[in-house]
Amino acid sequence: MTNSPLLTFHNGVSIPQLGFGVWQVADDAAEAAVSEALRVGYRHIDTAALYQNEAGVGRAVAASGIPRADIFITTKLGNPDHGYDAALRAFDTSLEKLDTDYVDLYLIHWPQPKRDEYVPSWRALEKILADGRARAIGVSNFTIEFLERLAAETDSKPVINQIETHPYLAQVHVRSYLADHDIVHESWSPLGQGGELLTDPALVAIAQAHDHSVAQVVLRWHLQRGSVVIPKSVTPSRIAENYAALEFELSTAEMAAIDGLDKGKRLGTHPDDAG
Ligand code: NAD
Repeated sequence: MTNSPLLTFHNGVSIPQLGFGVWQVADDAAEAAVSEALRVGYRHIDTAALYQNEAGVGRAVAASGIPRADIFITTKLGNPDHGYDAALRAFDTSLEKLDTDYVDLYLIHWPQPKRDEYVPSWRALEKILADGRARAIGVSNFTIEFLERLAAETDSKPVINQIETHPYLAQVHVRSYLADHDIVHESWSPLGQGGELLTDPALVAIAQAHDHSVAQVVLRWHLQRGSVVIPKSVTPSRIAENYAALEFELSTAEMAAIDGLDKGKRLGTHPDDAG
């Protein structure tokens, strides 16, 4: 088993670059999928209060026999829980469900539904960090404008921004801003939710040349761009297949060809449509 490479945040904490996502997986199924992922070698799990499966994730982690310190757990503040006090309460609930006394990474899931509330929420995250109950804090679905406001109104910056990213939505502009500010980029829906991306002829050709799957080629592209990536699957063979993306490499020309597929095609909500 190959271990995932680690990326180090500006606060010194490291995150396994290849993780495992559990959006749209019911609580019991999440327990089974995370158990399988941990067995295969993943050591980074991405959940959220909104996914309603933190308890299943917690049960899988507890049952794995793997020391808690060896597993990186991310969860997120849900949209109904913005505001300083509400965010602190929501974090307590997440810890309880996860059955742990800290998370590795706590994110603001969306800068919505009320755009002016994420600043007080961020102050709650700063307190959670200061109290040692999260090892790092970050954001998700933040545009440059949202990041700039956070920078202007607070004294700390997120370690990461988790945003929709795949070859059809390469996020070149936001990634360049994040790189300039030493904020790690994390790709959600990295496989384009398993849709038409996975039959793209250019990707199929690259996959055939490597004798690997299109999903593996796409995950390689994320990894070689230096992003954190969190593919989701509940199918054991695919959970293993996605993890094996660690084991080969794309050429510079192949990376450039995949970069060329960007067409700004979004599958999820645009952060500006918040609220
Ligand atoms: P994804 O891009 O990871 O695609 C998952 C789907 O692709 C699976 O349901 C399956 O249909 C297919 N698939 C997976 N592995 C495959 C393989 N090897 N071969 C063929 N098909 C395969 O989609 P996602 O779940 O939307 O995103 C991944 C994770 O990102 C989520 O689980 C969640 O943790 C996170 N996420 C975060 C946000 C956010 O707002 N922060 C939003 C969406 C997703």
